[in-house]
Amino acid sequence: MGKIFVISSPSGGGKTTIKNHLLRQSSLLYSVSCTTRLPRQGEKDKRDYFFISQKSFKQKIKDNEFAEWAKVLANYYGTPRYFLEKWLKRGKNILLEIDVKGAKQIKKEYKKQSVLIFISPPSLQELGQRLKNRKTEGDEEICQRLKLAEKEMQEIKRYDYLVFNKSLRLCVEDIKTIIKAEGCRI
Ligand code: 5GP
Repeated sequence: MGKIFVISSPSGGGKTTIKNHLLRQSSLLYSVSCTTRLPRQGEKDKRDYFFISQKSFKQKIKDNEFAEWAKVLANYYGTPRYFLEKWLKRGKNILLEIDVKGAKQIKKEYKKQSVLIFISPPSLQELGQRLKNRKTEGDEEICQRLKLAEKEMQEIKRYDYLVFNKSLRLCVEDIKTIIKAEGCRI
């Protein structure tokens, strides 16, 4: 059986860039989530997310199609169960980039097979600056995301590993080291 590597970090913590680097430098398979949020500029359907309506998201919940799902701020996000289980059975390691509520559900359902990694920004001030710089959210949304970040960071204790994102290269190296070590676990 493969393992599920979950990375979580507050919005603006740099996890999308980290994810892209990890996917290029490892044999991890990425599980594309479903979301009801609208695509941001440059995002592509089926590559970044499956962008779906609230109605079809709720139908998928009823049909038990998600391994986990959560409402993050105003939108729903969920991990398709089919992809995850198909590749786990074939011995592949899967990467999930999901929030703390989703990570908790994955740990509950796939206790021995999941490895939870929290990526922390160097500080909340720096996180605020990064959110401002990327210019995809207005002031009010940035404020909401910072409040949420503070709450999410209280969940670090549920994670198996904590990695600080001071530099992209070191952060990616740390995660690759974790994956390697988990591959050697007895
Ligand atoms: P964003 O809208 O910035 O892409 O993502 C907002 C939050 O939703 C992030 O914390 C991201 O990790 C989380 N997220 C993305 N996909 C999923 C998913 O499938 N499940 C859960 N629980 N959270 C997700």
